[in-house]
Amino acid sequence: MVITEIPNHPSIPHSTDATGNRPATPVSAARQDTPSFATPLRKDAFELSDEDKIAKIEGHFQAIMQTLGLDLSDDSLRGTPGRVAKMFVKETFKGLNPANYPKISLFDNKYQYRRMLVERDIPLYSFCEHHFLPLYGKAHVAYIPNGKVIGLSKLNRIVEHFARRPQVQERLTMQIADELRRVLGVEDVAVYIDAQHMCVQARGVHHHHSGTSTAEYGGKFLNEHIRNEFLQAIKS
Ligand SMILES: [Zn+2]
Repeated sequence: MVITEIPNHPSIPHSTDATGNRPATPVSAARQDTPSFATPLRKDAFELSDEDKIAKIEGHFQAIMQTLGLDLSDDSLRGTPGRVAKMFVKETFKGLNPANYPKISLFDNKYQYRRMLVERDIPLYSFCEHHFLPLYGKAHVAYIPNGKVIGLSKLNRIVEHFARRPQVQERLTMQIADELRRVLGVEDVAVYIDAQHMCVQARGVHHHHSGTSTAEYGGKFLNEHIRNEFLQAIKS
């Protein structure tokens, strides 16, 4: 029986001063107002409809291709600006829009389950916001339930929602952890992400085999034994 429905995660555009700079805010104050790990969005981020955004981006991407010297009358290239625009708005960056936040339902923990639940090997596909190149890998999340439990696939959906933005891996990790805390109403959450960055592998230093790991632990996961149980679980 579904007992609680969680409202959409509110997207909080950064406040800016007259110069367009974000004011320096102490960490504690920032946590209550705009979390320092919120995606930097403008206040007018969602004034345009998806359709208007697609039309605009199509024009911009066409200009990029033309500037590169590509012949857009070629059969193979003609549809690319439209495809890219649609992909950005409807797929790869759809997680920017809070309207696309997944429907999350919680259930009574009637089994009195009190140990950690680990959802491992969640496929992760995101884009590095510095190069707009893919970063991809796996996310592992865990929590220790209190009064409520979450449908398992919703953990995957939360990861997917925050991955579908231009991201840096550190921020993605924090956003997922923070959302798990909010949704589950517990501090006892863990997030571990292991990812490869195309901007490191396919350009720049061309380090094909380097990977990046990030983690965030809260509540009971700060205890070494609990954390090790989680780390063992995601290795198996
Ligand atoms: Zn990058």
